[in-house]
Amino acid sequence: MKQRAIVIGAGIAGISAAIRLKAKGFEVEVFEANAYPGGKLSEFKQGTYRFDAGPSLFTMPHFVDELFELMGEKPSAHFEYAVAVDRDKADVLTTFKYIEEELNKR
Ligand SMILES: Cc1cc2nc3c(=O)[nH]c(=O)nc-3n(C[C@H](O)[C@H](O)[C@H](O)COP(=O)(O)OP(=O)(O)OC[C@H]3O[C@@H](n4cnc5c(N)ncnc54)[C@H](O)[C@@H]3O)c2cc1C
Repeated sequence: MKQRAIVIGAGIAGISAAIRLKAKGFEVEVFEANAYPGGKLSEFKQGTYRFDAGPSLFTMPHFVDELFELMGEKPSAHFEYAVAVDRDKADVLTTFKYIEEELNKR
């Protein structure tokens, strides 16, 4: 019999945990209080304006890709990344790029 796992919350953390548990062979159930998944990863509209309720950029997209790959899916079959900012001018992305370069040296 498969081991069962229950995940409370379908934010990005809950969804990631659920996918990883499923990939390890667990039977997974996710319970979410909202009527939609994503948690803070959502948006709302006011008039003609659209607002991000949480994250608008991913600094470590390879972790998102990994979740699709764990399930045998190609991320590019579902979405494409858009480079919204100049990588060398954005502090967060520059930090990530720096870390990436440091790791590649090892
Ligand atoms: C304005 C803003 C901008 C941000 N910008 C970025 C960004 O650009 N890049 C970035 O990487 N991060 C950003 N973040 C951070 C990022 O949004 C969060 O780290 C991430 O979304 C948190 O995910 P989570 O799954 O931990 O929590 P949440 O997204 O909060 O999800 C928790 C979920 O659990 C549900 N829940 C809680 N309690 C229960 C319960 N008892 N029963 C059932 N369901 C329950 C909630 O309804 C919710 O859906 C931003 C955050 C904010 C607020």
